Amino acid sequence: MAGERQADCLFCKIVAGEVPATVVRETDTTVAFRDINPQAPTHILVIPKVHYPDVAALAAAEPQMAADILRESAEVAAEDKTVGSGYRIVFNTGSGAGQTVFHAHAHVLGGRGLNWPPG
Ligand code: IMP
Repeated sequence: MAGERQADCLFCKIVAGEVPATVVRETDTTVAFRDINPQAPTHILVIPKVHYPDVAALAAAEPQMAADILRESAEVAAEDKTVGSGYRIVFNTGSGAGQTVFHAHAHVLGGRGLNWPPG
């Protein structure tokens, strides 16, 4: 059923505390933790506690939860000391865009210059 935990999902296991993560913020509906392979001085992932395969599915089923992810991404960036003058929120959506973990997540990236267009 939509939003239910998936047994084989890495990020569901992080939500459950079964896989360790460096958690920087948590709310009733979201968890934010440091990316294990950071691409910038600030690289934090913000995820819903419920399972949806990507942000499009999340926004379609639970738009308030998608808003929670955006709000928490902004909070994480505001609290992080290394962000600097700006940051980027990225949702890789689909394997062709580089998505590798199919549990919706925002990347919050900052602390260095970020090129445009992204690669
Ligand atoms: P995606 O490629 O947009 O799906 O992003 C998945 C992200 O999860 C990548 O940046 C990975 O480095 C990150 N990642 C994978 N496993 C872990 C983990 O166990 N802890 C924290 N981040 C992880």
